[in-house]
Amino acid sequence: VNNKEPTSVVILGGGQAGAWAAKTLRDEGYSGPITLVSEEFHAPYERPPLSKLLLKQPALAHSAQIFDDAFLDGLSLDWRKGVRAESLDLGAKRIQLSDQSTLPYGKLIFCTGGCALRPGIPGMDLPGVFTLRTLDDCNRLHDALQTAKTLCVVGGGWIGLEVASTARGMGKSVTLLERGRRLCQRALPPEMSAYMLELHRTAGVDVRLDSEVSAIESSGASFCVTTSDGASVTADLVVIGAGLVANDDVAAAAGVQCDRGILVDNRCVSSDPDVLAAGDVAVAPNRWAGRSIRLESWQNATAQAIAAAKTALGQDVHYDPLPWFWSDQHDVNLQIFGWPQPHHRAVRRNLGADDAHITFLLDGDKVVSAVGVNAARELRMSRRLIEDAIAVEDGRLADPDFKLSELRAATV
Ligand SMILES: Cc1cc2nc3c(=O)[nH]c(=O)nc-3n(C[C@H](O)[C@H](O)[C@H](O)COP(=O)(O)OP(=O)(O)OC[C@H]3O[C@@H](n4cnc5c(N)ncnc54)[C@H](O)[C@@H]3O)c2cc1C
Repeated sequence: VNNKEPTSVVILGGGQAGAWAAKTLRDEGYSGPITLVSEEFHAPYERPPLSKLLLKQPALAHSAQIFDDAFLDGLSLDWRKGVRAESLDLGAKRIQLSDQSTLPYGKLIFCTGGCALRPGIPGMDLPGVFTLRTLDDCNRLHDALQTAKTLCVVGGGWIGLEVASTARGMGKSVTLLERGRRLCQRALPPEMSAYMLELHRTAGVDVRLDSEVSAIESSGASFCVTTSDGASVTADLVVIGAGLVANDDVAAAAGVQCDRGILVDNRCVSSDPDVLAAGDVAVAPNRWAGRSIRLESWQNATAQAIAAAKTALGQDVHYDPLPWFWSDQHDVNLQIFGWPQPHHRAVRRNLGADDAHITFLLDGDKVVSAVGVNAARELRMSRRLIEDAIAVEDGRLADPDFKLSELRAATV
């Protein structure tokens, strides 16, 4: 018997991280009460398909469900569906829920994720202006796309680009407005932003950079989206992909330290020893980024939730992953390992078929990040280069005939 085991665990948020935290508690032998407080009614599901497959084919929603119903039953959770956590009393170790009940906890794990940022643009709240975060958002947008012919996407980050790509695949005419000078400015090196721009323009998306939206007006059955330089776009539908706001309001109001997310350490513990956080809501130290970051990715939602659950059970945990993110757009698979930063030096390795290539990012003679296009296999090799901090000459990285696996074997 582990005497560090909590009397009860409450998980807030029944998304990807919440589901994995619950599963891990049981996997690790915890037999005490687990309550899963979930604002959504759906069983926990993965969000990546919402902007890809499910936007086209929402009938396949079951494929995104994380665990099947029988498995979820087997976890013996007290699952509060359609209920929101409203406030938290750290001293009394109690949570107040939207159905007026209160819940005591031994350990509390925030897996509340985030919601789509709604910028303060006039017209943002008009019906027909969408954001995309939940399965319900996806279904509504899919329905609206059935009759729409033209779409204006605001924001050239991942969600905006994926929606643009999927809508093009559905035969829509798409204009994408990005206020910055390049696409995915925060996540990609300039070379890859340029590649994405070319990819979208070749696929017929009218991408306009330096285009900050100042107003959205409804004009009859369509919208007029105006940018600050006076230009305008007419479209049947508008989708805003402006980023994420972490759902840290309940924690912050209770006095848990937050800074655009709940601040946690490498054990996933917040400023309160019995309050943990994982997934999109957590801001954790990451050595690859060199600071604390919110890792908004599928990989992190699962892995950090596993780490948090283990910590809650009193196990020794040190969670500091190499970030990994992927995106699918216009039949291209893009993957990023690491955390590209402006001072990194880029070396490109062309792999031939399907436009496949990797942009390696180096700090001195070490590869610290890799961004690949249609290069899943080679990227797995690169991952080891990064994690094992193997020194490499630029010329070898750029030479597709030089085997990265040999390099590793020779140096280890
Ligand atoms: C459209 C889309 C496409 C994506 N594509 C990719 C991709 O290609 N690759 C990739 O790596 N990542 C992708 N991601 C990111 C990935 O899906 C997220 O990182 C992941 O879902 C985070 O999981 P989470 O459990 O932390 O948060 P969420 O999945 O957001 O779950 C949080 C849950 O908590 C609930 N909640 C919030 N507040 C409360 C409260 N007070 N009380 C009760 N419940 C509450 C919410 O309703 C929600 O159900 C994508 C995300 C989106 C939205």
